[in-house]
Amino acid sequence: MTGNGHLEDAVLAEVPRALDDLRQLVAVRSVSADPLLAGEVHRSATMVAELLTAEDVKCRVVTTGGSRPAVLGTKPGPPGARTVLLYAHHDVQPVGDGWASDPFTLTERQGRLYGRGSADDKAAIALHLAVLRAFGDALPVNVVLLVEGEEEIGSPCLPALLEAHRDELTADVAVVPDAVNAASGVPALTTALRGIADLVVEVSTLTRTVHSGLYGGALPCALTALVHALGTLHDSHGRIVVEGLEDASLDRVETLADPEGLLLPHVAQIGNGSLAERLVARHAITVLALDAVPVDQAANVLHPRARAKLSIRVPPGRSPEVATAVVEAHLRRNLPSGVRVAATPGALGGGYLAGDGPFRRLAESALGKAFGAPCVSLGVGGSIPFVAALAEALPEAEVLVTAVQDDVSAAHSTDESLSIADFRRASVAQAYLFDQLDGA
Ligand SMILES: [Zn+2]
Repeated sequence: MTGNGHLEDAVLAEVPRALDDLRQLVAVRSVSADPLLAGEVHRSATMVAELLTAEDVKCRVVTTGGSRPAVLGTKPGPPGARTVLLYAHHDVQPVGDGWASDPFTLTERQGRLYGRGSADDKAAIALHLAVLRAFGDALPVNVVLLVEGEEEIGSPCLPALLEAHRDELTADVAVVPDAVNAASGVPALTTALRGIADLVVEVSTLTRTVHSGLYGGALPCALTALVHALGTLHDSHGRIVVEGLEDASLDRVETLADPEGLLLPHVAQIGNGSLAERLVARHAITVLALDAVPVDQAANVLHPRARAKLSIRVPPGRSPEVATAVVEAHLRRNLPSGVRVAATPGALGGGYLAGDGPFRRLAESALGKAFGAPCVSLGVGGSIPFVAALAEALPEAEVLVTAVQDDVSAAHSTDESLSIADFRRASVAQAYLFDQLDGA
């Protein structure tokens, strides 16, 4: 393919057909969290495989390690060409109530396409199809496809699947359009994600419930002791005061727009440092749940047992295992001596920090050119478990986390939508990237 204008025209000519494929894909209720819809998840995997096969991609549906059906595919380019792994997932979140139009009927309103999976992440499948079709037989790179069927339940079997199919998934660069652009029309590469560690702490102090008047002040109440210990995790400005939690330092990372409108009047944000530092480079500890008696059922008692669940967000490059151990030790130090403490680690996932490799520069340039706006390096406080799994399983591949969603796409929520203009730009950008990898 010669000339960027020609390539852009070729990709844009494929967009209407790709959006028609998206319409078909969205009509399949591939909700991975719902066991009753397992057949639909299979049907959507089969549909993806058929669409790819029609583009001369050699592919098959696999359920390695008990995974929900994933599609693996390959299409060779010229000998000696770079190999690109294209990721997407064909499963979706449950829909919930309150949609303005049927969530499984792709519906256009004011330049956006509404439907479950319209953005997250069936649009990525449509994008890959548009780019493959635009190049046809003149593909400048080798393409490997992985279309997962369980991303929305945390990709539990993905590490096993990557391990089992490692040889055929080996690539120079992995393109993962499953994050969010900085805004509609403003492209982003997601270059930093925090990891996650859950921790359940149970405190026991007494053999049974006792009267709070008779014994209060002499015997320790487990709920009061636990609340005290939880209170020692932060100072009054919301800054973590746990020794041994090391923050990260990140360059060049921006983050989502300031969350205006979420705070009540006169309530200030917590912590110190820039928003990007607080959301990405630092730990955050949140009490997710506390087993306690509802206030209107309160009785005059000391509680023998109490339990809390904490979520620890861990900066990229820091260990979630270490964070869990450090927080547990801190809580033990701040509970009355001799009380029984049971700590149970829960979900655990590493963060992600993009390297500064050559393909990142190419992707930034391709995105900048296609969108007509500079590409933002986005740090996100949340976690995408499969990104860390992918980076770990394929250490030779540079992982590029791109996006079709924008800041109003409402993935996982009511009225999820895709900007058609952004879909066009993202498709062109991916084609430019392929083109630039030719000879890189
Ligand atoms: Zn997704």
